[in-house]
Amino acid sequence: MAIEYDLHSHSTASDGTLAPAELVQQAHAAGVQVLALTDHDTTDGIAAACTTAETLGLQLVPGVEVSVSWQSQTVHVLGLSVDPHCSALQSGLQRLQAARDWRAAEIGRRLHKAGIPGAFDGASALARGRIVSRTHFARHLAEQGHARNVREVFKRYLVHGKPGHVSGEWASLEEALDWIRQAGGLAVIAHPARYRMTASKLRRLIGEFRELGGPGLEVVSGSHTPDNIHTMAALARTEGLLASRGSDYHGPENPWVKLGSMAELPVGCTPVWESEAWPVH
Ligand code: AMP
Ligand code: MN
Ligand code: MN
Ligand code: MN
Repeated sequence: MAIEYDLHSHSTASDGTLAPAELVQQAHAAGVQVLALTDHDTTDGIAAACTTAETLGLQLVPGVEVSVSWQSQTVHVLGLSVDPHCSALQSGLQRLQAARDWRAAEIGRRLHKAGIPGAFDGASALARGRIVSRTHFARHLAEQGHARNVREVFKRYLVHGKPGHVSGEWASLEEALDWIRQAGGLAVIAHPARYRMTASKLRRLIGEFRELGGPGLEVVSGSHTPDNIHTMAALARTEGLLASRGSDYHGPENPWVKLGSMAELPVGCTPVWESEAWPVH
């Protein structure tokens, strides 16, 4: 039987709602045998996740989801099987964490101007780890009744053109790939269909990513429709990229993304997992 693997997930170290140990327990209970913990811009959850994974016999892949600014857009690049002790990776992530802190304060100031005081404190209180994300603002604003749910908050307050939107100043694509390479990891463009790029812009992104040595594209993602999966599988094949598969699980509050029940990679894809490029440490 094929190994059940999930190469994209979040814990309370970033904007997930399960602590690393709980996440690993839930994944194991859902039949996942290999799980990558890929928190936004931090590896802080990995040690705890590894400890629990060992007791359960689950293989934990240490990972990270690096925020990248590319052509005035935010793009996410997964580093899979990275060494969390790599100093180049950690100093890069520290810079992104500082940029996040600045952005969170600025989001707070802008929401205050828009008539919503206290959002920075509210979001910071919900963030249990080092990372303050827009998700924490969204949860806080939803709790305060500014919208019916988190999605609605994003739409009304946090996306481009809305009062609480602040562009992040993240890593360049080159920096992200350099940090991941130095940490011995494998780079994957996360949820490519989410960026709503034209086909030619997405091919340009992939072209640059490949020139910088990037090998993988996330074909199956919790945020991809069956149609997206089909399109991205074809793109991975024509562009010569390895295909990755991950739920992007953030916790049980998102009932439409589940652990251990993802679609298979379409026939013809070369999976990153267990490919020759997969890092063995
Ligand atoms: P940040 O990295 O702080 O800008 O926050 C981005 C995170 O917000 C993503 O990783 C998602 O977890 C979440 N997110 C982004 N857009 C939406 C949306 N429209 N609805 C719900 N969650 C979203
Ligand atoms: Mn997230
Ligand atoms: Mn992402
Ligand atoms: Mn993610």
